[in-house]
Amino acid sequence: MNGTVVVLLGPPGSGKGTQAQRLVEVLGTPHVSSGDLFRHHLSEDTDLGQLAKSYMEKGELVPDDVTVKMVMERISRPDCEEGVILDGFPRTLTQAEALKGALSGRGQEVTVVPLIRVGDEEVVRRLTARRVCKECGAVYNLAFNPPEEEGECDVCGGDLYQREDDNPETVQHRLYTYYKETSPLIGYYFAQDRLVEVDGEQPVEQVSEELLEAIHEAKRAS
Ligand code: AMP
Repeated sequence: MNGTVVVLLGPPGSGKGTQAQRLVEVLGTPHVSSGDLFRHHLSEDTDLGQLAKSYMEKGELVPDDVTVKMVMERISRPDCEEGVILDGFPRTLTQAEALKGALSGRGQEVTVVPLIRVGDEEVVRRLTARRVCKECGAVYNLAFNPPEEEGECDVCGGDLYQREDDNPETVQHRLYTYYKETSPLIGYYFAQDRLVEVDGEQPVEQVSEELLEAIHEAKRAS
């Protein structure tokens, strides 16, 4: 098969973004995060950003048609020809089917779907203490991975902020949305023999190691 397509599955706060950034360094394939794409549109105040805003603020999913269009445009660019690490997409069965169709059109398929398991309490604990760098997107956690200087990014010195949807009420609703809309993908990819479960409550390095192992194993088998 041509290219490695990794779909990172797991609840909000399971570390998909952090792990994707680490995988990029090893695999060299781009990291495409639908949440980051929406936040970019939001910061540029595009029509899509305006539309996505109300859903994101409530912790609900942006409708499938616009989400699929945005992500498909991104992964059709030349840098994704050799593969991609998808984070936060697909989040519904409709999106998963759209991805399958688009990949098959270019002779590709999903290689592996690591499911990063993290309990609900841990999700709430992590997200409410999460801070993100405005400049470079580096992610911190005030509880277990704080920046050296309060409010300042260790990497680039940029200001840290709390995502609007990381407040306790919205986090609860995002979890609900995950179970309702996204968890059916677990069965969907299990049935296609693509699912590999990883314990997301282990140290970050251990999770990365297990993810890499799963990806290499899947590549060997494909
Ligand atoms: P994330 O950064 O992945 O937690 O995404 C932040 C928010 O963006 C979500 O709560 C949704 O409102 C929206 N979003 C991100 N990815 C998707 C997707 N695949 N489908 C629908 N909405 C999404």
